[in-house]
Amino acid sequence: MAIKVDIVTPEKMLYSGEVEMITLPGTNGQMGILRGHAPLLSTLDIGEIVLHKREGNDYLAVSGGVVEVRPDKVTILADVAEAEGEIDEERARAALERAERLLAENPPPQQVPEIMASLRRSTLRLKVARRHAGRRASAGLSYEGGGGGESN
Ligand code: ATP
Repeated sequence: MAIKVDIVTPEKMLYSGEVEMITLPGTNGQMGILRGHAPLLSTLDIGEIVLHKREGNDYLAVSGGVVEVRPDKVTILADVAEAEGEIDEERARAALERAERLLAENPPPQQVPEIMASLRRSTLRLKVARRHAGRRASAGLSYEGGGGGESN
């Protein structure tokens, strides 16, 4: 049985639909949610949201926010989030290089957490964008390689 999912950012409704399962990065660890889950509220880390659907998985990048779980519905209020198809890979790569460069320059300790967060966001965006590219490349071919294979 499916569970309803709404994913909202300050800018727009990013996703609204039904899925078989959703996995998301809670700040206390990765969570997998099926219909009938006990109600809960959690904050979100930087990580991947996977929408498990009958026809295949969809992937999104999320950076912070909150999730409300009810037995029939998951509502995500994301601070920042992108669907796999809207990630600008070039921009993410530039952000990653910038973060790596800043870290290599021995930044003041108080700047390190923000640089590390930028590094994690850009690494995540590249991972999600590559899943998208992999799926497009395999569309119309066999199932081989579709979805990227990783399950975390
Ligand atoms: P950058 O250093 O590339 O600007 P950032 O990590 O500083 O990235 P955020 O503060 O996380 O950017 O996000 C600001 C806005 O830009 C958000 O709306 C986010 O969805 C969008 N965004 C950031 N990076 C990308 C990207 N690579 N592709 C698409 N949208 C992005």
